[in-house]
Amino acid sequence: MITQKSAETLQFGRDFARKVPAGAVLALYGDLGAGKTTLAKGFISALTSLPETEIQSPTFTYLNIYDERVFHFDLYRLKGENDFVEMGFTDFLSKEGICLIEWPERIEKLLPKETIFIELFHEKNGKRRIHVHSF
Ligand code: ADP
Ligand code: MG
Repeated sequence: MITQKSAETLQFGRDFARKVPAGAVLALYGDLGAGKTTLAKGFISALTSLPETEIQSPTFTYLNIYDERVFHFDLYRLKGENDFVEMGFTDFLSKEGICLIEWPERIEKLLPKETIFIELFHEKNGKRRIHVHSF
């Protein structure tokens, strides 16, 4: 899937939200600026009916919770798995709600085997390539 601009990545997130079952863990991979948060904004707004402008990446707090059932992690600043465990975050991975995880590299060993992997790549002229797979 190629998106031409951020509005299309938002829309991809919105559409994807309708296909994902409760309890899913989505690991969002991609460089800084690849569009992980943009996709998450579309996804979360579809599930909560909050406007995208009110959805921010939890860069400093690691986790934002929406309606007790959408868990948006940004683990960029996390040092590793141990910190995630010590902060009591592991339980969220097995809850009924949906986890969206930016920088899942930080906790790769903790990701459940049913995790859905979403990778975003920079392409030329503001385009992004989005690749979804699960094992
Ligand atoms: P990340 O969370 O991966 O660091 P963000 O979603 O925060 O990335 O930022 C992506 C930036 O790139 C935003 O400023 C967005 O407007 C811009 N952008 C340009 N084209 C696209 C596109 N096709 N998809 C997503 N974002 C895009
Ligand atoms: Mg981000």
